[in-house]
Amino acid sequence: MSYFLTEEQQLIRNSVREFCLDPSTRQAASADRKQGGFPYESWKLVAEKGYIGAYVPEAYGGQGYDFTTYFVILEMLSKMGNPASMVMGAHDLAILPLLYWGTEEQKKKYLVPLASGKAIGCGAVTDPAGLNNYPEWGMTVAEDGDDFVINGTKVLVTNAHAADIKIVFGKPSGSYFDTVYIVEKDMPGVETGFNEQKIVPGKADWGTVNLKNVKVPKANRVVDNGFGMYWFGPSFLSVCLSALTLGDTAFEKTLAFCKQRTRYERPLVDLQAVSHRLVNMAINNEISRNLIYNAIRLWDEQRYEECYRLACMSKVWIPEAINKNLHDAAILHGGIGFTPQALVSMMWVSSLQLEIAEMPADVHRDFVAETYGIKPGWKNGRP
Ligand SMILES: Cc1cc2nc3c(=O)[nH]c(=O)nc-3n(C[C@H](O)[C@H](O)[C@H](O)COP(=O)(O)OP(=O)(O)OC[C@H]3O[C@@H](n4cnc5c(N)ncnc54)[C@H](O)[C@@H]3O)c2cc1C
Repeated sequence: MSYFLTEEQQLIRNSVREFCLDPSTRQAASADRKQGGFPYESWKLVAEKGYIGAYVPEAYGGQGYDFTTYFVILEMLSKMGNPASMVMGAHDLAILPLLYWGTEEQKKKYLVPLASGKAIGCGAVTDPAGLNNYPEWGMTVAEDGDDFVINGTKVLVTNAHAADIKIVFGKPSGSYFDTVYIVEKDMPGVETGFNEQKIVPGKADWGTVNLKNVKVPKANRVVDNGFGMYWFGPSFLSVCLSALTLGDTAFEKTLAFCKQRTRYERPLVDLQAVSHRLVNMAINNEISRNLIYNAIRLWDEQRYEECYRLACMSKVWIPEAINKNLHDAAILHGGIGFTPQALVSMMWVSSLQLEIAEMPADVHRDFVAETYGIKPGWKNGRP
């Protein structure tokens, strides 16, 4: 489905597909999968193509594409299983606050290398006490002349170790994020000692950023300039886009399986119950695609608040809907669905991370409520 893509966007989508099929890209992807951790080889090639941070204006190292075009790129990279697509969302979490809140100096120094992919980024938000549990965050920031001295720990951070530029989220002074600190990998006191193990096979660069008396120049503090948290919108939507890719792949694989596997010498798809489960999967996928591309188009039209609301709604609905798709895909594979050969079951487990990452549906319902002027009780200071 074209989703009203322009001719240029369709050309870009085709060229991303060709890039993924190129032997050198496939070789890099296979080396990265074998190695585990951050996919350096694929990252290098994807960066050379200008796909990383493609939505950033050219003046700051990007391609100046709109977000819709970036999503077209990201969706195709993800669909083709390019390992870089697994970490680009986390990298965007470093780019977005700089792009929308950063000063000119901060953009020149940090956004330019991030947008071109020369530097790797991460967004370190989650405190061991809980991402949304701001009052209990252990992080401290003290003033010391021209510097801030930061102590604390961030956990479950994607690209924690590889990131050259770690965007560390400060304890919100109000009830929403309003300050981040730009921390360089080589600053004394920055430790990224170990990686978390995901429940899906393979090693990921996902772990802890420890900050022990880290001196960060005051110039590295990035504060909300009035734009607010809206820039989280594209970030939430990119998680949804990853979920959609799983949903699309599950549908294609399950449809092919049910066409080929028979019952009483007729393909499984001839059973109405089977075809209805498949149709439900397709419906969930298409609703997801509509939500994502409608929301991101709102961003391109600078309707940031509307995009943000739809992005939060998407984060409520899409990962759960796709999780149901993957459940049905596993069921339709029968006993094979419970074996490692049935990729869909592993994808089902994997889809869970997209429900949890960047906050689960329950928290996003609160975000949606806030866009209607309803302040959640827990933010009013009630237990
Ligand atoms: C694959 C993956 C990648 C990640 N990458 C990053 C990253 O790059 N950077 C980063 O900083 N973090 C990252 N995270 C962490 C992730 O954002 C958090 O785990 C997630 O937002 C939930 O926060 P928590 O773990 O602190 O859960 P808690 O705050 O301990 O909450 C536990 C559960 O309680 C419920 N709950 C909590 N608060 C509320 C509320 N207000 N209303 C209703 N229910 C609530 C929810 O069900 C929630 O899942 C990643 C996580 C995963 C799984």
